[in-house]
Amino acid sequence: MNLKSTRKKRNPKVGFVSLGCPKALVDSERILTRLRAEGYTVAPDYDSADLVVVNTCGFIDSAIDESLDAIGEALEHNGKVVVTGCLGANPQRILERHPKVLKVTGPHAYEDVLDAVHEHLPPKHDPFVDLVPPQGVRLTPRHYAYLKISEGCNNTCSFCIIPDLRGKLASRRIDEVLREGERLVRAGVRELLVISQDTSAYGADLRYPRAEWNGSSYETRFLDLARGLGSLGVWVRMHYVYPYPHVDGVIELMADGRVLPYLDIPFQHGSPTVLKRMKRPAHAENTLARIAAWRRACPQLVLRSTFIVGFPGETEAEFQQLIDWLEEAQLDRVGAFKYSPVEGARANEVAPHVAPEIQEERLARFMQVAQRISAARLAQRVGQEETVLVDGHEGNVAIARTRGDAPEIDGVVRIKRGASLPVGEFARVTLTAADDYDFEAVPKENPS
Ligand code: SF4
Repeated sequence: MNLKSTRKKRNPKVGFVSLGCPKALVDSERILTRLRAEGYTVAPDYDSADLVVVNTCGFIDSAIDESLDAIGEALEHNGKVVVTGCLGANPQRILERHPKVLKVTGPHAYEDVLDAVHEHLPPKHDPFVDLVPPQGVRLTPRHYAYLKISEGCNNTCSFCIIPDLRGKLASRRIDEVLREGERLVRAGVRELLVISQDTSAYGADLRYPRAEWNGSSYETRFLDLARGLGSLGVWVRMHYVYPYPHVDGVIELMADGRVLPYLDIPFQHGSPTVLKRMKRPAHAENTLARIAAWRRACPQLVLRSTFIVGFPGETEAEFQQLIDWLEEAQLDRVGAFKYSPVEGARANEVAPHVAPEIQEERLARFMQVAQRISAARLAQRVGQEETVLVDGHEGNVAIARTRGDAPEIDGVVRIKRGASLPVGEFARVTLTAADDYDFEAVPKENPS
């Protein structure tokens, strides 16, 4: 069995039956949003599901009967059933009639449902194909959520086998995505993290169909997605965007404060010849000119990227081009990896591999430059007042993030005397110091 076929099997499918009121629907939405982001597929019927979640209603007797019947049907047709929702507040009643359910969790306890799914149908975290940060299946706090807008990818990057594993780009229609975003915001989400393999290509597979949402017409494309999500009044953060000309329109929305002035663009390299060997999308674009234009249009833009160092055939001159590119691009947040051959990737054959000790040495040189730039860019913001989103507390210190920090992959802001700042809410702070990656801050004093 080769790696591709092993990986192909890793696509656990969850069926979902949602009964009850709009509140229960929001819980269902949150559970589905999170499962989708973790790589689960939502199964359309019992037969194709590996496990079924039944979100019940226990409001009146007829609703209880309907819920118990739905659990029975799921058990009969599938066998692996997790029960949640209002009727879950009375587990005895469910277990008396259906002792074989795997787990009963109560209303609005969506974390417990996800725990039960993880336990009985493990997500088999795969760092190579997963879009959520690699902290395994740790749950996203309630105040931010990953919003997956499409599956698969139409590109053919030579180091990547995701299109073989996940198939061609398959976008969700814009009204479906916007409704999901809206429900999440209603449920208390303060930050939406848009993810996909190629966010700038969103809708291309469907030919950008139009749909109505909240009385306006939107095309299923990146710009309208940003426009729609930007109207929800929360932070909207864009991940996995490529530097195509049509991204310029989204930069305008960033300059207007509609979506976060933050772009996560996996540039991967700065040498045109390496990018060509990588077969990267937009490899022929003049990315430095584009970055400069974006920064002119939106000076507060924060750019995050990842790079591959020591790609097959990378010469010292090409590596130096990458360093020069980075010096000019002045990216705020940078991660880098040494090239490592993925079984089945065409890059393994494009050129001789770079020796591991040279890869190591180049990675260290690259990260030194990246770190220096990051530190200098953070230092420029010290003294400024900024809005942050509070993620948690460590003693009297609140841990938060600025517009330029995605959860779990970027830096944090440590707010002294921040114990009273509520988790999941925005706060105004003054940035007082910075190191290579993180800020220190104090709450902005109330003038009254
Ligand atoms: S854009 Fe390239 S690296 Fe990203 S999923 Fe598609 S083929 Fe893979």
